[in-house]
Amino acid sequence: MNDAGLDIARIRADFPLLARDVNGKPLVYLDNANTSQKPAVVIDAVEHFYRSTNANVARAVHTLGAEATAAYEGARDRLARFINAPSRDEVILTSGTTQAINLVAYSFALPRLAPGDEILVTRMEHHANIVPWQLVAGRSGAKVVPAPISEAGELLIDEFVARLSPRVKLAAVTHVSNVLGTVNPVAQLARECRRHGVPLLIDGSQAAPHLGIDVRALGCDFYALTGHKLFGPTGTGLLWAKRAHLEAMPPFFGGGEMIRDVRFEGTTFAEPPHRFEAGTPNIAGFVGLGAAIDYVGSIGIERIAARERALLAHAQAALEGIPGLRFFGEVPGKAPVISFLVDGAHAHDLATLLDHEGIAVRSGHHCAHPLMQFYGVPATLRASLAFYNTHEEIDRFVAALVRVRKLLG
Ligand code: PLP
Repeated sequence: MNDAGLDIARIRADFPLLARDVNGKPLVYLDNANTSQKPAVVIDAVEHFYRSTNANVARAVHTLGAEATAAYEGARDRLARFINAPSRDEVILTSGTTQAINLVAYSFALPRLAPGDEILVTRMEHHANIVPWQLVAGRSGAKVVPAPISEAGELLIDEFVARLSPRVKLAAVTHVSNVLGTVNPVAQLARECRRHGVPLLIDGSQAAPHLGIDVRALGCDFYALTGHKLFGPTGTGLLWAKRAHLEAMPPFFGGGEMIRDVRFEGTTFAEPPHRFEAGTPNIAGFVGLGAAIDYVGSIGIERIAARERALLAHAQAALEGIPGLRFFGEVPGKAPVISFLVDGAHAHDLATLLDHEGIAVRSGHHCAHPLMQFYGVPATLRASLAFYNTHEEIDRFVAALVRVRKLLG
């Protein structure tokens, strides 16, 4: 079946790793929310960079230095277009979402926090969108307040809005939950935050591979995303922030290439984005991420989303036919992530047995302890899909799950 008019055989041929066997069986990779596989164009771009262009950026006048800088800055241009940023200078290249959020925590939030202030998050956040706020709250006497969710895994908007008091100096919300798949109504949240004068950061780590991102339309203040979930190399990501915020933010990391003038009497800093990019960046990684953005663009995020909706519907229907499963995250329109538990079987045991069948799913807390506490479980099993997965793979996964469950029962 070629959902969304995509030639899936051709697309799968673009991803060399999908052709391998695992434990003697053809791989079924259903851990895409953890990290995605990379198309050959990304692998080739990284290799080509090291074979033909390698040099440091923004430092040397020689030809390789100029080419490397153009390639690296070209990735910033692509990313700026990908998220519809008003300006490429508002795009900070980071090692990922974690670094992006820490940058906002230390450079934007910490100087503004006083004892009694609050940072508003939600119950469904990844640790990357909780712990950095706790660290700066601990230094300033502020506290991190979670907005509640429903049993189905939906953010309770009225409860979120009710917590937007003058004490709240920043709100930080995931666009898509990595456990539940819930797509939060972030444009609406941004409107509410603006009405209350609260800056809003959106963690787009799980959204970028599945949804079109338009930071102008969203109306948020900060947006973070992860390159390695977006078919790019590990150690890449970005922070987008409104120019006024960036201009007011002091640097977080200090070092080379983020300065204007260094003297022992005092140092002045470069303008954004370079003010926030001290040291040698992951140049080859960003060249690869630029290729990943082009690749996604060549398929079209709308077609990717349509394909994933079809795969998700298939997987949900097939799993719902198995008795004794408990699902986490049942909000309509969710991203292609299915978290569940099987009566009488540990998630880790199931994941291990599925691996013997060549099927890669994740078991664990998914870096979301407070969400696990909400549901009163230590772990879930999570199957997360990408557009390159197939209906046959879903059938293999569901059949294997039924088989391995019997082994444990
Ligand atoms: N936020 C969410 C929702 C995530 O799922 C992840 C990764 O799993 C992160 C943040 C961390 O992203 P990174 O690997 O880019 O630091």
